[in-house]
Amino acid sequence: VFRNKLEFFAAAKISSSFPPPTLPEIAFAGVSNVGKSSLLNALTRQWGIVRTSDKPGLTQSINFFRLASKLCLVDLPGYGFAYAKEEVKESWQELVKEYVSTRVGLERVCLLVHTKRGMKPLDYELVDLMERHKTPYQIVLTKTDLVFPIDVARRAMEIQESLKKNKSVVNPVMMVSSKTGAGIRNLRAPSPNPEVT
Ligand code: GDP
Repeated sequence: VFRNKLEFFAAAKISSSFPPPTLPEIAFAGVSNVGKSSLLNALTRQWGIVRTSDKPGLTQSINFFRLASKLCLVDLPGYGFAYAKEEVKESWQELVKEYVSTRVGLERVCLLVHTKRGMKPLDYELVDLMERHKTPYQIVLTKTDLVFPIDVARRAMEIQESLKKNKSVVNPVMMVSSKTGAGIRNLRAPSPNPEVT
């Protein structure tokens, strides 16, 4: 399915403008600057469609992309960047929460975690929410090229341990580098829906 052309088709700043859920969806969440846009570009091999930036928090809306009429990839706004105004921060977080807790057709959330920095309180908040709503999610460690392989493994084990009582998490932790391409193929492979692999 990732060989299909990626097409941007909707952006939503409020839940009432989410497009109708006609396709299975995989969403990507994480703190800003975690490497989400780079990963979406690497995953779909379509550079530049998903905007990457060094400016944390630039993606303010939930962006919906489709791969032919098979799968919808959803770019959730990065949360937790330091310099936004409190009320702005909260409204984005609310939007993400609303999406993951109510969206029909949401097959999985890939929660991206910076390998060097580990999981943040806002990540755990999202995890709790997904657990409450039984939303399947997958932890994906990003930018693995920045640390030694042993530290990537350590980080994965630490996260796995902290989530071991959780029911909706899909194990094990996946590891990727958009820079070197490591792990990208693996991430494409395990689709929760065999129809769309
Ligand atoms: P987003 O805010 O989560 O969408 O993050 P971006 O994809 O815009 O990436 C943030 C910064 O991290 C950019 O400077 C990227 O070049 C860099 N980056 C993203 N992925 C990787 C990676 O796999 N390895 C390294 N070393 N840098 C990365």
